[in-house]
Amino acid sequence: MMKKYFFNNDISYAEKSYVFFVVITQIVLVLSFLGRVAVTGINYNSLTVIGAWAAAFLITVIFLLTRSSAFCSTALVLVMTCVFFPLMFFTGGGILGDSSVWLIYNVVLICNILPFRIRVRNIFLVFTDVVAIICCTLGIKYPKAILSFTVRQAYMISFITLILVISAIATVIHLQNMTNDYRIALLNKQNKEIEGLIASQNRFFSSMSHEIRTPINTIIGLNEMILREDISDEIAEDAVNIRAAGRMLLNTVNDILDMSKFQAGDMKIVADNYNTGNMLSEIVGMLWLKAKEKNLDFHINVSPDVPAELRGDEVRIKQILMNVLNNAIKYTKEGSVTLSVECNKLEDGTVNMIYTVKDTGKGIRKEDIPYLFTAFRRGDEEQNRYIEGTGLGLSIVKELVDLMGGRITVNSVYTKGSTFIVEIPQKVVDFKGIGELDMERRHVINTGERYRQKFDAPE
Ligand code: ADP
Repeated sequence: MMKKYFFNNDISYAEKSYVFFVVITQIVLVLSFLGRVAVTGINYNSLTVIGAWAAAFLITVIFLLTRSSAFCSTALVLVMTCVFFPLMFFTGGGILGDSSVWLIYNVVLICNILPFRIRVRNIFLVFTDVVAIICCTLGIKYPKAILSFTVRQAYMISFITLILVISAIATVIHLQNMTNDYRIALLNKQNKEIEGLIASQNRFFSSMSHEIRTPINTIIGLNEMILREDISDEIAEDAVNIRAAGRMLLNTVNDILDMSKFQAGDMKIVADNYNTGNMLSEIVGMLWLKAKEKNLDFHINVSPDVPAELRGDEVRIKQILMNVLNNAIKYTKEGSVTLSVECNKLEDGTVNMIYTVKDTGKGIRKEDIPYLFTAFRRGDEEQNRYIEGTGLGLSIVKELVDLMGGRITVNSVYTKGSTFIVEIPQKVVDFKGIGELDMERRHVINTGERYRQKFDAPE
């Protein structure tokens, strides 16, 4: 039964400690009483010990009725300090008897069973010292008030108490260690189970994402074919909506796939040479229309000294910038979104690319900023309920930026706008500057255009 109790995880460690000590203390007091009676017979001193046992027993009954280990442990400590110790001192030969050993036992009790903060426990320890000092002072002042044993009896009783107290402390420490070892083993087991569960969940997510992507791509592809046909405006409108919904779904599935890759530690950065101007042009090309649809001004400032050709994972850099720019457009009702691109030269033919995305949107509440990069967490839930999103975008961005050795920072004023700064170190292939880029002219949109064929693949 004891074993079952000690290994029961529903019982708090504080309660277990209290039960260890209260059981052991009662055994020690009964054995001490028997030893004392054998050595000195029944007297005030042996009656004090059995009185202390009766008090400990009563406190145990109260504990069984109330289950309040805090109240009962405090009561036990107070009885031991204020009643038991002074009585043992005055009936057992003062400082020359075994009272000092009981004082040490009391200190061990205070440190182990009181479920309070260290500051409160220290108050109890100081109080115990004060009681001991008062007893010693009174003993010196009124030596006749102390009942003494013969030297032989004092030696025997002190020896018995010493053995009992040492055994009690050793037993409790042993029991506590056993419980702790069991708790650690249990935690390790639970951790392993959780890790296994997360790994299988990740495997499930990534295989599911793969499975879902194929039919979505088919839908998007077939829809694209419908758009090429000579169809009525009504069907065309539906097909355009299907395309938008399909792309959104594909993005979400891709985000889930990326997240599970990160969690499984499988995300890899694939470096290759890329043309900086083309990359920026592609990003702007994809977002320009979106900004225009919301009547937002879309500005692009690219510093002319940005190297024309870099080496890094172009696909992932595009994903980062698309995410941050998409958010800027998504969370801005009016005003503008500005992308600025600069670079700082580092050593070893590397530059620190600095992409700054500034918007005049709704901004981010101060209290939401610490959770901005936490997966599945969306800020300003109340207001964002009607804006599509999963809360995955920025956490993927942060993971990708970290993986590339860069960093992302945010400055935001709620209701005024936000600035996201992404810094990514990139190897330089061609130090020749990109020169003056006029992106805005490259993306004049023909808004009357319903369908624009990107490529033709007859086979
Ligand atoms: P979501 O899918 O919700 O957009 P993200 O991870 O991309 O997820 O962004 C997390 C949260 O950060 C968003 O829910 C939004 O509250 C806030 N947020 C991100 N970018 C901006 C921005 N430019 N302006 C205002 N809030 C933003």
